[in-house]
Amino acid sequence: MNKIRFHILTLFPEMFESVFASSILSRAQKKGIMEIKYYNLRDFAADKHKTVDDTPYGGGPGMVLKIDVMDKAITSIKSEIRNPKSEKSKVILMTPQGKRFDQKKAAELSNLEDIILICGHYEGFDERIREHLVDEEISIGDFVLSGGEIPAMAVVDAVARLVPGVLGKDESSNEESFSLTDDDGKILLEYPIYTRPVEYKGWKVPEVLQNGNHAEIKKWRLEEAKNRTKDKRTDR
Ligand code: SAH
Repeated sequence: MNKIRFHILTLFPEMFESVFASSILSRAQKKGIMEIKYYNLRDFAADKHKTVDDTPYGGGPGMVLKIDVMDKAITSIKSEIRNPKSEKSKVILMTPQGKRFDQKKAAELSNLEDIILICGHYEGFDERIREHLVDEEISIGDFVLSGGEIPAMAVVDAVARLVPGVLGKDESSNEESFSLTDDDGKILLEYPIYTRPVEYKGWKVPEVLQNGNHAEIKKWRLEEAKNRTKDKRTDR
């Protein structure tokens, strides 16, 4: 199996350090199942001031990331990846204008070999970056953050945990929210879960979970998952 590689192009690589040095993703990197590489956009600036952005044509607020610097950076990253032209590599722009990220997209990306994630900052990107240099645009939701770093972290985390071997066998992802489905394939939220004590301040763990009848438990969980999806997700 090919190991999955994330290539993150950002002005702030240090923002990622502690997040990916902890827990499941740190273990996956140590096990050699995945690799995360960082590239500082500033290293690709042409002038001695390391300029990466400029004011917008036509006026208006904020600074705009430059097409020439971005092109140089992406070309350089592509020269390092295994099959830059294959379907197994993708250049993805983090932008609130992109397609909304979800578990289905995470599963799709988990089959790739190399994923280049471009984090914007400030006002945004020169439009030609979107038009000519990227394969896809992803948004993590209808709100605006100050940079693409937090969105990129969310995407790497969600994708990585679907790569075989990243989660231990006790942490399986196929019974979780958005992976769990009913008989018609409709996506469900996870059923309620409990642990000891069986009763706390009079709040009890449902009887059915205590009796060890696996068929009954399975049926109860599916029903609960359906009910809570109906209650909480009126959009589905
Ligand atoms: N002016 C832009 C927003 C810029 S926000 C607009 O109106 O569309 C600065 C950067 O943060 C963006 O370039 C993008 O990389 C990142 N970003 C902000 N919100 C995001 C979101 N919801 N999803 C993904 N990336 C986001």
